[in-house]
Amino acid sequence: MARINDNYLKLQAGYLFPEISRRVSEFTSANPDVDVIRLGIGDVTRPLVPAVVKAFHEGVDEMARGETFHGYGPEQGYDWLSQIIIDKAYKPLGVELKPSEVFISDGSKCDSANILDIFDLSNKVAIGDPVYPVYNDTNVMVGRSGKMNEQGYYEGIIYMPCTEENGFTPQFPSEKVDLIYLCFPNNPTGTVATREQLKGWVDYALENDAVILFDAAYEAFITEDHIPHSIYQIEGAEKCAIEFRSFSKTAGFTGVRCGLTVVPEALTGTTADGERASFNQLWNRRQCTKFNGVSYPVQKAAAAVYSEEGWAQVKGVIDYYMENARIIREGLTAAGIQCYGGVNAPYIWLKSPQGMSSWDFFDKLLHECSVVGTPGSGFGPSGEGYFRLSAFGERNNVETAVRRIREKWGK
Ligand SMILES: *Cc1c(COP(=O)(O)O)cnc(C)c1O
Repeated sequence: MARINDNYLKLQAGYLFPEISRRVSEFTSANPDVDVIRLGIGDVTRPLVPAVVKAFHEGVDEMARGETFHGYGPEQGYDWLSQIIIDKAYKPLGVELKPSEVFISDGSKCDSANILDIFDLSNKVAIGDPVYPVYNDTNVMVGRSGKMNEQGYYEGIIYMPCTEENGFTPQFPSEKVDLIYLCFPNNPTGTVATREQLKGWVDYALENDAVILFDAAYEAFITEDHIPHSIYQIEGAEKCAIEFRSFSKTAGFTGVRCGLTVVPEALTGTTADGERASFNQLWNRRQCTKFNGVSYPVQKAAAAVYSEEGWAQVKGVIDYYMENARIIREGLTAAGIQCYGGVNAPYIWLKSPQGMSSWDFFDKLLHECSVVGTPGSGFGPSGEGYFRLSAFGERNNVETAVRRIREKWGK
């Protein structure tokens, strides 16, 4: 008798995006001539930049010749790519890393899920609310939670509500936790953490022998100089934090697939016998057993992101999205809507006007402006009454959407 993993049955059915699609298609069939603008997506729209495409092609051509063909690469990724990332993405921040601490992967969604392999089930986990759903769901899948309660929280997981009152930054949990998920710049709220706030978390983690799982997927979108790009810019973080980064949003790799996870050698945890053991060695073992590396052309393409030419081009695309973010933020603010985020992140988190619920605002925006966004309540109970707009669209669409909203509610 093959038993299923019953934990999967605790998961709330994927409701958010199917429900959005359902409401949008209902609207478009009733209004076939209306041009609907989608600002709900969390995916990029601009193509790969030329320097990346060139390196990608070259990688493929090498694979086509016997003399330059590559078979299995290192499970941890090629050292030359790790070294480029260390030199170009970490050294300028004053962060020193070794190639053995950088693990190249096929994306940070997988890594932030797979990392749970190296932590005992008894660890208490703290997760923000609202949140990127992967952290929640993967903990449910491994069996760290009970059922979802009426409020929309899984039993056994500690939630850190991020609200207007606390500036959308999580507060320290009132009970002791062992694993803390932090995501800055944040999806969905678009907010960032200051150096002082991150120092607070690092100190908390060191005091409590906890590990911070730091998702920095949007670090490239930070525009303000005083905001840290990496948790390792905080002293002591190498003893208490794992960092996830991704080429997905930074360089349009959502369909190419490349990311990286940093597990410092100084990071240790407690064994059943009360000894200390290295998480770096565990993650290395995990990757070597369950992963066979990222394809050679993809790693060539990723390296090109950090070439002089590549970075200038990639930065141009990031600036394009951040100009979209500015247009949305300023346009909606002028229409009297309270907006957060959008300065150091490609997401604008807005407060539904007149105390509307997230879904009521979704319907109003769809029916009155033909604009689609994402209801904040879909990211967790504390997202109720909020709404996420993405800056990853085409400029024309963004401008038209903002114009429509201002015409309806503008002042
Ligand atoms: C998009 C995103 C990622 C990136 O995932 P990939 O698997 O690298 O594409 C990671 N974390 C958050 C919060 C995201 O929104």
